[in-house]
Amino acid sequence: MLLYYPIRLLRHVSPRLLWKAAWLWVRPSLITLRAYRKRLEKGQLFPPFWFLSLTDACNLRCRGCWVDYPGPPRILPLDTVTRIIDSGKRRGCRFFTLLGGEPLLYPDLWRIPERHRDCYFQVITNGLFLDDDAVRRIRDLGNVTILVSLDGGEADNDARRGEGVFAQVVEGMRRLRRAGILFGVATTVTAGNCEEVLGDAYVRFICRLGAAYLWYYGYRPVGPDAAPELALSAAMFGGFRKRLLELRRRHPIVIIDTYWDAEGKAICPAALGLGFHIGPSGGVEPCPPLSYAADFIEPNSDVFATVNESRFLRDFQQFASQKTRGCVILERPGELADFLESSQGRDTSGRDLVCELRASRACPSHSTPESEIPEDSRIYRYLKRRLFFGLAAYG
Ligand code: SF4
Repeated sequence: MLLYYPIRLLRHVSPRLLWKAAWLWVRPSLITLRAYRKRLEKGQLFPPFWFLSLTDACNLRCRGCWVDYPGPPRILPLDTVTRIIDSGKRRGCRFFTLLGGEPLLYPDLWRIPERHRDCYFQVITNGLFLDDDAVRRIRDLGNVTILVSLDGGEADNDARRGEGVFAQVVEGMRRLRRAGILFGVATTVTAGNCEEVLGDAYVRFICRLGAAYLWYYGYRPVGPDAAPELALSAAMFGGFRKRLLELRRRHPIVIIDTYWDAEGKAICPAALGLGFHIGPSGGVEPCPPLSYAADFIEPNSDVFATVNESRFLRDFQQFASQKTRGCVILERPGELADFLESSQGRDTSGRDLVCELRASRACPSHSTPESEIPEDSRIYRYLKRRLFFGLAAYG
């Protein structure tokens, strides 16, 4: 079915935007990963991919969201964003993920891709601000792909994200499709929606909406309303992996996960140093759900040195990879709380992350050593080995 994918792309996405994505996103990824491997050889720590949370302001209160700052919303100043991207560019990085909170509430959002026309940006949004004006800006810029969150059909989605959200998000995606924009859908798989969102009917629906890619996340019970009943069991994670392979064979859409490598072994991108997160406080954090940092991007700090010399990030990598190939947040919340407390870092969530971790119970994660299923599609094997996970740059 992937053979039909180019036809779908040409039908739904404007040729100008497709060309931009190929030139600014796909082509530089090889250069980015080459530079990353060279850094690894030198023992340097600076990932190829960055997640920048521009603000913790959000118009929704989704269950299990880790962004719930009690004070007035914070924003990552535009100058700081620019310095992070410039520093990344000097090290071969060209792809940056912008998220929140809700990034479309960040006043200078579109100035970022405008300032860095040689980079490609992924904006992860709840989809409620995709009006005609925003869609026109995205189309004119050309170096942005939109990743819209949708967690199933109307009932499942709105149970977690709020009443009426599904209909508005679908309308936003229709606007993106009419404008020929390259966009994807981010779906969180929970114990409540796994049957539905891993089903053929859901993927067909996403294809009909015009999405070019579908990005699955496994639910993490974090934040003040952690909803542990939505966490996946070990059997559900096993089923998730199996279904991914089936869906990849059956549907003309790129299906992305960042959990398993080409051999089906679990990975943690933060433990491998493939991507770190910078939150609205300027803190350099292992990943978006882990709001804890020891090092901050200050107005005059050297971004590369801040990351490369971070004892906290290096200790986290060692701690996480000693504990599991999967996710320490899910599998070892108590030990993670101990690690954070004994580290040099501080809580950037505005709540009490250590206390939240201590209150949560250990859950299975995507690490299933006894039942690893290698990718059975040559294209995905190639993509995971060569492009996405860095040419076997990890152990
Ligand atoms: S700690 Fe968990 S959520 Fe964070 S990058 Fe690793 S696997 Fe993903």
